[in-house]
Amino acid sequence: MAAAGIVAVVGTSPSLGADTWLRDLGLGAVGTPGPTPPADTLAGGGPATSAPATSAPASPPPATTGSATSVTPLATEPGYDAASIPPRASGRLVTVPGRSAANAPGRRLVYRLQVEAGLPFDPATVAGTVHAVLSDRRGWQPLEKVAFERTDGAGYELTIVIASPETTDRLCYPLDTVGQLSCRNGPRVILNAIRWAVGVPWYGGRMDLYHAYLVNHEVGHALGHSHEYCPGPGRPAPVMMQQSKGVGRCLPNPWPAVNA
Ligand SMILES: [Zn+2]
Repeated sequence: MAAAGIVAVVGTSPSLGADTWLRDLGLGAVGTPGPTPPADTLAGGGPATSAPATSAPASPPPATTGSATSVTPLATEPGYDAASIPPRASGRLVTVPGRSAANAPGRRLVYRLQVEAGLPFDPATVAGTVHAVLSDRRGWQPLEKVAFERTDGAGYELTIVIASPETTDRLCYPLDTVGQLSCRNGPRVILNAIRWAVGVPWYGGRMDLYHAYLVNHEVGHALGHSHEYCPGPGRPAPVMMQQSKGVGRCLPNPWPAVNA
């Protein structure tokens, strides 16, 4: 059931039909492109970041759409509204207990997940979502020859944090996340709770897919990837495009493999 709103976006769709592409991604119900977005992932000019924060068009990367089929759907978390996210929570980052096993060959990339105390999210549910995204075969694993493994102990090389807007700003400094954006700063990925809660309009309420975008984009920075840009009207947006700021004439896409 392709959304009517998408049709306007894909007027000059190239080789791949939008319906096919949307079906492959499970993105059948994307809403109309919303107003200019408040936010997205940011990687400003700070020393700890790997990517500029510009949004100017760039030369399109070669985009082959190698999307996967018959993939287990991601879990959908309960929705939250913006009012449920305090601008400032406790400031205390709590490591989510438990471990999540790797499911692929390749170098083990061990991470831990922290959720700031005082946020409404269920930590175990968030952990399930994050690991499902990271270990999805449309994700970074096959591209980077890594296998993500979650720990609650020592030996991690990456920390993924979900933090309130003010804590995000503090952890992302000197990057300027203005209470809305997320970032990768050194060995930490900080996901802004307000984005985790409400997403962005052009993902049409598909929080599972927006969560996948947010995780894949910021972890992509941790893996050394810089920003990419919309390669052309109707094409899937590269996951390294700042899709929280908008997708332009591209279609929202949460998966690295789609533009691999
Ligand atoms: Zn970014």
